[in-house]
Amino acid sequence: MTSNSLRDADIAYALHPYTNAVAHEQSGPMVAVRGKGVRVYDDAGKDYIEGMAGLWCTSLGFDEPRLVDAAKRQMEALPFFHMFNHKAHEPGIRLSETLVQMAPVPMSKAFFCNSGSEANDTAVKMIWYYHNAIGKPEKKKIIARLRGYHGVTVAAASLTGLPLNHRSFDLPIDRILHTSCPHHYRYGEAGETEDAFADRMAADLEALIEREGPETIAAFFAEPVMGAGGVIVPPKTYFAKIQPILKKHDILFVADEVICGFGRTGKMFGSETFGLEPDIMTMAKALSSAYLPISAVLINEKVYQGIRGETGKIGSFGHGYTYSAHPVAAAVANETLAIYAERDILGHVGTVGPRMQARLRRLADHPLVGEARGVGLIGAVELVADKATKANFDPSQAVGPRVVNHAQANGVILRAMAGDIVAFSPPLVISEAEVDEMFDRFERALNTVTEEIGAPA
Ligand code: PMP
Repeated sequence: MTSNSLRDADIAYALHPYTNAVAHEQSGPMVAVRGKGVRVYDDAGKDYIEGMAGLWCTSLGFDEPRLVDAAKRQMEALPFFHMFNHKAHEPGIRLSETLVQMAPVPMSKAFFCNSGSEANDTAVKMIWYYHNAIGKPEKKKIIARLRGYHGVTVAAASLTGLPLNHRSFDLPIDRILHTSCPHHYRYGEAGETEDAFADRMAADLEALIEREGPETIAAFFAEPVMGAGGVIVPPKTYFAKIQPILKKHDILFVADEVICGFGRTGKMFGSETFGLEPDIMTMAKALSSAYLPISAVLINEKVYQGIRGETGKIGSFGHGYTYSAHPVAAAVANETLAIYAERDILGHVGTVGPRMQARLRRLADHPLVGEARGVGLIGAVELVADKATKANFDPSQAVGPRVVNHAQANGVILRAMAGDIVAFSPPLVISEAEVDEMFDRFERALNTVTEEIGAPA
């Protein structure tokens, strides 16, 4: 148990992100003290399989000594320097080189930030800057998708298509639009095939573009697999139908690889798994296995040429964070990428991913599960009150959060999202035995909740 003084101090002084502050005054925190492999331990010594890799991010698990060494070495050599005003340092240069060379489509330059939100905000500003640079100042609107998640800073939260991130924050800002969410299970019409549904999604997008005027639409943002919006895997043909529309209207495509990047979907980038050809890619999380905060924006030559010309005219690219390409974070990222290559992380995901997907699919027969879905090492179950009609539970029953609370009591940390969706996104280094243990623990929790609320008719 958390000591009373720590618990009291937490309640007295900490405002928690994504937390109901009223409920927290009663519940207090779960305090983690150490990690090993895919597990974390609380202050009573209880172990939990971290089924979410923290926040979809600790890809190499919780005790990788090489990342600690890389940070220590860089701290000792040069704990801080920056890349403003023609300055640079080796970790930042090497990371730029590695990322541009790793990109699944031709990219030209890398720019660094500290979080996924900052990377997406930076992409938005680059898109606006680019269109001013090329003499199209009216081409500024950006389309994202309902239930997409791109972060919480002002522009990124506006891109995010979730009510919780807009409501009471006076968001979204203007110039940000949302098109439909490609979740066939939830939004497909009776008898509509996935392919026909994908056609409809593409038609929705094109109708929005036509309505607004194609000459005003600058860019389209998409996660290959939507993460925080509910782990939504698009229909196979969705992106193949979307991309020609973007090309036709000269709209830049931004792939938000913050979750999918670095192996999560089985390929190095979600863009490869789903055949995306982005102009800009944003990435974070597994870039450093989350050991230090760092994110990146990759831009292709076309975008670079626009930005380049404008900086020449204005005198400088007026954007950058004190910690853009922080050398210690960059050194950890370089080491992370080296480990992925040396240990063949993609080969490993190719082995354990199918195991996780098989365990997930088995849950589709459970009385509470409407849909079990995923790809690689990301997945979710969507819990429903009625499997035939797909009716949701009354939100007041908080079925998703209840399952997640029981899962935590059973020693697995998962995340419930709006719509009673429970997500799985374990460290990429998880073993097959640990995948089984994670699902065994989860199934116990699911069965307990089924007994509590009674199996739906
Ligand atoms: N994009 C995606 C796809 C994400 O999942 C997240 C975070 N979960 C973000 C952007 C924002 O990243 P951050 O929380 O580091 O700002």
